[in-house]
Amino acid sequence: MSGPHRPSRSFTELLLASGNSAKLVELRALLPTHIKVRGLSELGLPTDLPEDGSTLEENALQKAWEAYRSSGLPSLADDSGLEVPALNGAPGVYSARYAGPEKDDRANLELLLHSLQGHADRRARFRTVLALVSSHGEHLFEGVVEGHIDELPKGDAGFGYDPVFVPLGDTRTFAQMDAVAKNAISHRAKAMRALLAYFDGLDARG
Ligand code: IMP
Repeated sequence: MSGPHRPSRSFTELLLASGNSAKLVELRALLPTHIKVRGLSELGLPTDLPEDGSTLEENALQKAWEAYRSSGLPSLADDSGLEVPALNGAPGVYSARYAGPEKDDRANLELLLHSLQGHADRRARFRTVLALVSSHGEHLFEGVVEGHIDELPKGDAGFGYDPVFVPLGDTRTFAQMDAVAKNAISHRAKAMRALLAYFDGLDARG
């Protein structure tokens, strides 16, 4: 995401409820610089937060509440998944372990292509839910990018289902885009923009 963010006076510190260091780096880069962004491990908290809900919303809230209860700090958690209408919304909340508990990106992608064989409808969307829990209560923010699943994997960038996901209006898969191009339209960046708009709204109300 580009462009300056107005400082949020309402939140000066935020705990990111994720043990995934790549995600911490990504979310940190998207947040206003004056917010002190903390990680679970730097506060001595367990990094393997429970996420056994049956929706992205439940998982994000579960992680954010757990982090808020143990730290007292405003806590932000995210959960994302790929939703395919022809597969009744699968892999959805189970995207990371679609092909099994090993969370193998390649096996997941191959199972997806196999499951879609013979389906004319190859529409798909990535969805991110961010949950913020603070003294203001709980809030959810969503980001969606629509697209379709290509017949064959293309590109080396990114992770997960990126080699087969082609966003609407483009001919390249996410894995054929550089990080700047993907982040301009990604589900995660859109959810983050919704969160930043909430911060701005709080500040505007003083
Ligand atoms: P997470 O909640 O961000 O960890 O995402 C859960 C799973 O959804 C990942 O393990 C991937 O399989 C899939 N996923 C989420 N976001 C993306 C993305 O941007 N590209 C490709 N796969 C993704």
